[in-house]
Amino acid sequence: MTKEKDWNDWHWQLRNSQPAPAEFADVDKIYPTLVTPYYASLIETTAPHNDPIYRQSFPDRAEITDTSYDNLDPLNEEAQMPVPHLIHRYQDRAVLLTTNQCAVHCRFCLRKRKWKDDAAPYTLSNSELSTIEQYLKNHSEINEIIVSGGDPLMLETDKLQNILKRISDIPSIKIIRLGTRIPVVLPIRIDAKLADMLEDIPGLWIATHFNHPREVTQEALAACNKLQKKGIPILNQTVLMKNINDNHETLVELFRTLAANRIKPHYLFHIDPVAGNAHFATGIDKGVELIRSFRNTLSSIETPLFAFDLQKGGGKIPLLPEYKKNGKFEKLNGHYINYPE
Ligand SMILES: *Cc1c(COP(=O)(O)O)cnc(C)c1O
Ligand code: SF4
Repeated sequence: MTKEKDWNDWHWQLRNSQPAPAEFADVDKIYPTLVTPYYASLIETTAPHNDPIYRQSFPDRAEITDTSYDNLDPLNEEAQMPVPHLIHRYQDRAVLLTTNQCAVHCRFCLRKRKWKDDAAPYTLSNSELSTIEQYLKNHSEINEIIVSGGDPLMLETDKLQNILKRISDIPSIKIIRLGTRIPVVLPIRIDAKLADMLEDIPGLWIATHFNHPREVTQEALAACNKLQKKGIPILNQTVLMKNINDNHETLVELFRTLAANRIKPHYLFHIDPVAGNAHFATGIDKGVELIRSFRNTLSSIETPLFAFDLQKGGGKIPLLPEYKKNGKFEKLNGHYINYPE
């Protein structure tokens, strides 16, 4: 029996990752399994292999047999780094990769190249941070930093504070968007010390990553609420995945629950064409069809933007259903009518 004290210790959760079944040792060798006992406890044991939590966190043979996606960096992130660990693709915003550490190795990850083959643990050093700081000072057109990884909340609070403070102290940086899956996979890590520290970072938004209603537990909501009480707004991004969440009912439940808890569904992403991820792909049309199905069911607060990233760093493409056709516009009942412009 696990002691409650251990269970509620985030470092204990990290030390006690659940092993992959032996039959997947070859997959595991390439894409090592990492699952917190907390996240694994959300798996429903009646049909574990078809479970949406299991499928997001434990290996699948298709990761090495389905080679229809063969690029580990299809968005050319590595080529769009003017200085190490800073992806500068758009004019006004850039992504900062703080670490390659995560609490769970999500099987659908965009950046699995960072943790593949048991890559050595890595965290941004002070001298790398100085180089980035200098770059940002020289590029005052950048006003928003997306703090990502890995998972930035894997860093110890003092270390993360140092990074966030140094970034937010740059006069041209007005917004910091911290992307994290920690509220979903290790909510106990959101402790009072972390919440106090984040409260003092100006312009901070948190972007969480809930993909399925079963991930939205009392523990996860309590973690989000600690941040909301500090005045930090929370967004959510969801990755659309085949046989995990690619149906109307599941997503309606997810987005309604999030919005009711003041977590704004921000993005619904098509999976990126990363090697090992093809079995999760739904096709772009599926996402558009789902957004159309939400028109009468979900409010604009509850509905995210459907988007996907073009290959080679071509940028995000947000997509809406064709509500305008041949100069006419689609009514709620599906008929197209004129608009007196
Ligand atoms: C998604 C992304 C951003 C943020 O773009 P938004 O449109 O603000 O969501 C910035 N830089 C890179 C490299 C991205 O992939
Ligand atoms: S937490 Fe994010 S970076 Fe880490 S494995 Fe999951 S999706 Fe990838």
